Amino acid sequence: MYDKNNIFAKILRGEAPCVKLYEDTKTFAFMDIMPQVPGHSLVIPKCDAENILDLPADYAAATIAAVQKLAAAVKQATDAPGVMVAQLNGSAAGQTVFHIHFHILPRHQGLELKFHARAPEPIANLEPLAEKIRSRL
Ligand code: 5GP
Repeated sequence: MYDKNNIFAKILRGEAPCVKLYEDTKTFAFMDIMPQVPGHSLVIPKCDAENILDLPADYAAATIAAVQKLAAAVKQATDAPGVMVAQLNGSAAGQTVFHIHFHILPRHQGLELKFHARAPEPIANLEPLAEKIRSRL
């Protein structure tokens, strides 16, 4: 059962802050507050879906299109040779926020990922790279 009070639903309703990157009619993208690498971004659909299994096909298509757009911008902005896209379904798979989301993680040789959802970054520290990502969209 989708919980309308999850943190990403609150971000979508403008009830919680975020460092916004992109928005269209069906999707929204913002910086992850506990980045595993600099540039760690999230893309979510604007519909009530917990995970990939209950995401309507039209939102799935729009979200993947936005992921593609954001992945290119994040890759350029961080000068990363690789970009990882991750998506977790259910707590057994490591999901911690129950509004479906896609992680975009720029990857550089030798730069390991930090722990998942562990260390919050002050919003002000995320803004400079966010601006660089926005400028590549
Ligand atoms: P999951 O574990 O569900 O795949 O990923 C949830 C992600 O959301 C984690 O990477 C975590 O750092 C991020 N996150 C959790 N709470 C917030 C928040 O309030 N704002 C932002 N921007 N990201 C969040």
